[in-house]
Amino acid sequence: MSKIYTAWRRDLLAIHGLLDSLGDRPPEDKQLFRAEVMQVAEALNLVRRSGMLRFTKARGARARILEYLKRYVGEAISGDELEVVAGIHEYPRRIRELRVQEGYVIVTGVTREELKPDEYVLESESPNAEERERWRLANRIRRLPGSEKDRMLKLLQEMVGKPVSGDQLQYVSKGKEMRRVRELRTEQGWRVSTRLTGQPHLPVGWYLLESLDQAPQHDRSIKPGVYDSVLERDGHACRRCGWTVAKKREGAKRQYIELHHMEHHKDGGPNNRENLVTLCNICHDEAHRAKVMGFELLEWLGRKSPGE
Ligand SMILES: [Zn+2]
Ligand SMILES: [Zn+2]
Repeated sequence: MSKIYTAWRRDLLAIHGLLDSLGDRPPEDKQLFRAEVMQVAEALNLVRRSGMLRFTKARGARARILEYLKRYVGEAISGDELEVVAGIHEYPRRIRELRVQEGYVIVTGVTREELKPDEYVLESESPNAEERERWRLANRIRRLPGSEKDRMLKLLQEMVGKPVSGDQLQYVSKGKEMRRVRELRTEQGWRVSTRLTGQPHLPVGWYLLESLDQAPQHDRSIKPGVYDSVLERDGHACRRCGWTVAKKREGAKRQYIELHHMEHHKDGGPNNRENLVTLCNICHDEAHRAKVMGFELLEWLGRKSPGE
């Protein structure tokens, strides 16, 4: 155990004992009570400031945070540690500045599920111009009026066809829950994909808007868990022609993977796994034109030979 830690621990325990006894002061000791509270505040401040002074010559909370993160590239660093090296409570704002103004790739538990919400990982020692542009865009959109969902959609639309991180979506929505992104797909039919829904090459926690068109009404309102499990069962491929997004070509007719109801939803067909099949957008249109349903549809799926 380090000397510094032993000394601090002794002092902190003394402060702790003092705090415990403060609650028992009779009310007539008003002024004394306040004086002691102020002394405790000073003691806490000393602890915080000594934490930041010893570790580096870097000036300013942001520079100290960066220097600390750079020493541990790729490792999860807790908010508590950053608070100590920064010497301030508002370290999340400095993290944001490192992303927006300098382009450092710093991820959190929003993007990486193995991280806790209050953990940060610096992904590489040098900043990245593309990342900086992405954060600048997010920063502009964050200030726009409208609901958090509107701003998330706006960011995805500006980045159409390109991946967007959960951290950036959470930033523009000012911390609102990420399930809102899924609602964009399930309620409004925006084709937002993840690694589980048609874009297997995306990292966990990243999203991609496939196009500026919304999916047809009958494709919406499918619960995310059901949506994911149908795609998984069908191997993310069209059940008629075998197409997957990996085969997607600029300007080609086949662009999306969609779900189709074997018994149509408007005729009472349920939104469950048994009643849904994966189709590409072209075969999907054909299925609706051919008006095949139920077992007839299953037979129709098998009639086309794989290709295109
Ligand atoms: Zn197809
Ligand atoms: Zn359909």
